[in-house]
Amino acid sequence: MTAPDTRRVQVEKVIERYRRYVNAGAASLHKFMGAEAVEWRAEGSTIWDSDGREYLDLLAGFGTLALGHRPPAVIAAVREQLDRMPLASRVLFSKPLADLSAALAELLPGRLEKSFFCHSGAEAVEGALKLARLHTGRPGIVAAQGGYHGKTLGALSASGREVYRTPFAPLLPAVTHVPFGDADVLKEAVGPETAAVILEPIQGEAGVIVPPDDYLPAARAICDRTGALLIADEVQTGFGRTGAMFACERVGVVPDIICLAKALGGGVMPIGAFSSTPEIWAVLEENPYLHSSTLGGNPLACAAGLAALREIKARDLPARAAALGERALSRLAAIRREQAELIADVRGRGLLIGVEFADSDIAGLVIAGLLQRGVIAAYTLNNPEVIRIEPALTITQADLDRGLDAFGESVAQARDLVADL
Ligand code: PMP
Repeated sequence: MTAPDTRRVQVEKVIERYRRYVNAGAASLHKFMGAEAVEWRAEGSTIWDSDGREYLDLLAGFGTLALGHRPPAVIAAVREQLDRMPLASRVLFSKPLADLSAALAELLPGRLEKSFFCHSGAEAVEGALKLARLHTGRPGIVAAQGGYHGKTLGALSASGREVYRTPFAPLLPAVTHVPFGDADVLKEAVGPETAAVILEPIQGEAGVIVPPDDYLPAARAICDRTGALLIADEVQTGFGRTGAMFACERVGVVPDIICLAKALGGGVMPIGAFSSTPEIWAVLEENPYLHSSTLGGNPLACAAGLAALREIKARDLPARAAALGERALSRLAAIRREQAELIADVRGRGLLIGVEFADSDIAGLVIAGLLQRGVIAAYTLNNPEVIRIEPALTITQADLDRGLDAFGESVAQARDLVADL
C-alpha cells in the first residue's frame, strides 16, 4: 500500500476551519477523543490519515460501509455512470433507477416491490411515515423508546431520546413512545387512529438492543388486527449487518413498509429508500408528485446501489456477518468476564455488537484508548454507555481479531486509569 500524498494537508488548519466554519463543538469533541487527525485515504477496513498513520475501522461509517471503503465493483459502476451521465434529466426514463428498483424488489421479503429513493435514513423514514398516513388516513404513529430514526422533524418525532427531541418541541402530534420489546404495552398503545408502528428490528443507536424473538411477530399481529401499518426501520440492520439479509427475516416477519439507507450505497454514494407493497403504494401513484425529490434516485447513487446489492449477494455477506459476529461476541464475552466491574453487558447479532459499560466516562476512555492504538470505534448515539463494534462485513478475521485485542487492552487501560483516580 502506498503512503498517501500528504504534503498539502496542514492538520491545524483543517481543525481551525472546523472550529470557525463547521461547528466549534464538534471540533472540541474530536479533540477531546484524541482524534486530532485528518482522514485522507481508505481501502477496505483501513483508513490512513494525512500523516500516513494507519487506522483499523471498526465503525464502518455507522454501518454504511458493509463492503468496506472503496469496494472496487461499486467504484467501477459509479465511475462508468459518472463518465456517461451522473445526474438525471428528470424527464426521460432512468435505467439505473429502474434496475435498482427491480433488484431491490427481488431481494426484499414478501411483496415489498415498489421503492422510492432518497439520500439518507431520515428521509426514508419521512417517506414511510407519510405513506402510512396517506394509505390509512389516520394520524397516529407508535414508536419505541430509545429508537433512532433520524433528525429531520418527522423522523425525530418518531425517535426516542429526549435530549435530541426537547429543544425542537412541539414535534409531530399523535406520536406515542412505548418501551421496546414489550408486546403487551404495544398492544395497548395501538388503536383505530394508529397509522403505523415504526420499529427497528434490533435497536442500533439505543445501544444494540435485541428484543425477544416473539416481539416483532407480535407487532405484526397487532398491526394486522388494527389496520395499522408495520414500518421496519432497517436503515442500520439492513443488507446483512445482523447476519440475515434483513433483520426482520430472522424472525419471519414481513413489514408493510421498510426503510433502508447506509449500506445501500455500497460505501460510495449516499442513498436511502422506502419500499412497500403495490396495494399500499397505490396512493402514491394517483399523483406521483405527492412525494418527490430532485436528486433522489439519481443515476450515480442508483448505479452504486445496484453494484452494492450484487456484491452483498455474491459474497454472501449476511452469512459472513453471522460467522464473524459469533466469534467476536464470544471473544468480547471473555473480555467482559475479566473486566466484570467495567463491562455490564455484551450483546448483538452478526456484526452489530454493543458493549455496555458501567458508565459513559469509561466508554469514552475506551474509545480514546482504541484511537491511541489506531482503532476507530464510537458509542451508540442514543446511549453513550455502549460502544458499538460494527466493522465492514468484509473485514478479515485477522483484522477483527486485532481490533478485539486492542479493545481488550483499552478496557484494561481504562480500568487502570480509573483505579488511579
Ligand atoms: N434509522 C436508523 C435505524 C438509523 O440507525 C439511522 C442512523 N443511525 C437513521 C434512521 C438515520 O439515518 P441518517 O443519519 O442517514 O439520516
